[in-house]
Amino acid sequence: MNDSTAVADKTATQNPQHLHSRVFEELEIVRDPSNLYHQTIEQVLIAAQHVGLKHHQQIILAQPKNEIMVHFPVLMDNGHHQLFKGYRVQHNNALGPYKGGIRFHPHVSLDDVKSLAVLMTCKCSLVRVPFGGGKGGVKCNPRELSRDELMRVTRRFCSAISNQIGPDYDIPAPDVGTNAQVMAWFADTYQQMMPEHTRQDTARIVTGKPVEMGGSVGRDKATGQGLVDVLDEMLPELGIDISKMTFTLIGFGNVGGWTGRLLAERGAKLTAVLDHTGAIHNANGLNAIKLTAYVEKTGGVGGFAGAETITQEDFYGLDVDLLVPAALEQMITATEASIIGAKVVAEGANAPTTPEGDEVLLQRGVEILPAILCNAGGVTVSYFEWVQNKCSVTWSPEEVDQKLNQHMVLAARRVKLARHKYECNMRTASYCAALEAIGRVYDLRGVFP
Ligand code: GLU
Repeated sequence: MNDSTAVADKTATQNPQHLHSRVFEELEIVRDPSNLYHQTIEQVLIAAQHVGLKHHQQIILAQPKNEIMVHFPVLMDNGHHQLFKGYRVQHNNALGPYKGGIRFHPHVSLDDVKSLAVLMTCKCSLVRVPFGGGKGGVKCNPRELSRDELMRVTRRFCSAISNQIGPDYDIPAPDVGTNAQVMAWFADTYQQMMPEHTRQDTARIVTGKPVEMGGSVGRDKATGQGLVDVLDEMLPELGIDISKMTFTLIGFGNVGGWTGRLLAERGAKLTAVLDHTGAIHNANGLNAIKLTAYVEKTGGVGGFAGAETITQEDFYGLDVDLLVPAALEQMITATEASIIGAKVVAEGANAPTTPEGDEVLLQRGVEILPAILCNAGGVTVSYFEWVQNKCSVTWSPEEVDQKLNQHMVLAARRVKLARHKYECNMRTASYCAALEAIGRVYDLRGVFP
């Protein structure tokens, strides 16, 4: 049916439990198959076996270097103080400073933040930007906070972790529930806490800032643009022409919205979107620009006038060329995977597919383009922003687009090469391509003393 059938998949024949039990036992991790962190580490360790990563390097990567947990009070609009819980996990800095977003979401948990930090280590390595991996989060519901409360949560969280981060040490960025405005407050707070004479150089403490405050042009659309660059490299080989294809989206926030608009510009037809407010469908195509304006006003796609409402089941079953999950983790379980009608799933979100979902999709011959490749455009342009800040220069939109395209296309080719070299599926191949670079660095530098 597609290229995936042409490559023998040795991944499926291995018993992950057997492969990882040594590392898990040594680290005293009691394996829980529903735990996202355990799932992520297992996937990384499968790839580690393929590339022959040394045992001590596997042990290093199986746990984050630092796990920071903070509690901080915030004055709410009603005059009361509420205590919030925040995390910053610094997984690995072998390739450069810790790097990764800050998420504001009611379900933020330590294990989820740890998984997302591991994914950042792998993502940065795969696209060969000189950063390590980190992630942060605050357990809160930004939809229920006023603008002032959101600002105070951001500023207090920044001050709570300010001693543990730094512009050349650990650099946060936007993620689910945060945006350029949140980064502006974060940067301002950090700068206010630093000695006056160092302030100009500390804007690099976060990326994804507004352009007026040192952000890079193209950062806002970067994850969507990077995904389109990957599709350009991958889809023709799978017999899909972007200008003629049909596609559906899960999520219509930054990643989903930009992906929808950029693909529509290229002639692709967006036929359905699913988000927290429901699923909408129009076989003749949804207008991505009008949908963006509608979502900005109402907060979700539900009730959009240019479409009919459908059930989640009908949404997943739609017969389209491409499905892009661009919302939260673990949305595609075995249940959704068994009814997905798309030929290709390109993971715009981090970890949207569970291991069981993965297995069902692979068995059904659905091609999966993995998350650490598909959504690496965001951190790549974050790196460009950091470099521009460090050099006090600004790049043109064309320069950013062209450099991003180079990183994404090379990363996609790396994954395809790894897939043939190690005879494995695309997800394992993406981790293999990432681990090769990390392993080489550890081989060169050794372990102190
Ligand atoms: N939060 C984004 C991600 O998961 C971007 C991280 C960054 O730019 O540092 O990749």
